[in-house]
Amino acid sequence: MFDFPQLSAFRGGNGKVRVIGHRGAREIMPENTIEGFEFTLSLGVKALEFDVLLTADQVPVITHNHRVSAAATRNPDGQWLQGIEPKVATLSLAQLQELDVGGLDGRTRYGQKFSDQAFLNGVRVPSLTALLELVTKTAYLDVFLMLELKSDPLIKEKTHEYNQLVSAVVALLREYDVSDRTVLHSFDWDMLKECRRQAPDIPTSYLSQASIHEADHDEDTPDLVHLKFIRKKDSLPKAIAEAGGQLWCPHFSDVTSDLVDEAHAIGLLVSTWTVNKRNDILSMISAGVDGIVTDHPGRVQRCLLERGLHW
Ligand code: MG
Repeated sequence: MFDFPQLSAFRGGNGKVRVIGHRGAREIMPENTIEGFEFTLSLGVKALEFDVLLTADQVPVITHNHRVSAAATRNPDGQWLQGIEPKVATLSLAQLQELDVGGLDGRTRYGQKFSDQAFLNGVRVPSLTALLELVTKTAYLDVFLMLELKSDPLIKEKTHEYNQLVSAVVALLREYDVSDRTVLHSFDWDMLKECRRQAPDIPTSYLSQASIHEADHDEDTPDLVHLKFIRKKDSLPKAIAEAGGQLWCPHFSDVTSDLVDEAHAIGLLVSTWTVNKRNDILSMISAGVDGIVTDHPGRVQRCLLERGLHW
């Protein structure tokens, strides 16, 4: 058995609820960018959530959707992407990094949803290596990573996909010696099984979502892994513990204090996503979650301080 030292950074209690920056701090800064991660860390946030895919040349990069999002991407001429959005898996790292992901197109629904996000120029989709270079600097050795592995729902034969993505990611975590600061996180529970096979010393974090939400438009959405358990009237925390997971990461609308208690009783930590509104933040604090994944870390910090808590 492994003792998973990184879990202490994701455990609440003793006056703490952990703040985890969702794609950095998406309400404030361009998501999944080094600029956004540095900003988030400058707030004193000690955990970053981000999404990892492979390029055509098998480089792990940090971006959310399988297709480059036109709402957030300008071509080298500074024009918003037109036409069919290319798949990240069809572009080399060099091709992907010709694009600028420093701002949102305010005419799009996604751009309007994050209307306070800063607009920067010359920002690139980072490689995972670039983030690992950042968090291995002396100032950031106390920073932890919630690394989400994205599974392509259109790929039917998953074994090869899982193997390639997990092995590329784990190799970098070993190279930078950050395995003990990382949790591997996914909606695709079979991906997490592959993670445990290749890296049993790294904890796994199980995302769940009971239904498609309004907020998910314009984004890749996960398979609804939760539903099969609801249908069976089975316990989701119990299923995760039996699968070998250490964290349960439910959408906040699916969280109750009873479920949090149930998860804690069987040894799971609970981090909920993506909690941005003040009332929702306060209700998640009351429900007793260990961690809050948020696009607005400063707002969560303020709510915690009001309650005499820290992160
Ligand atoms: Mg994510």
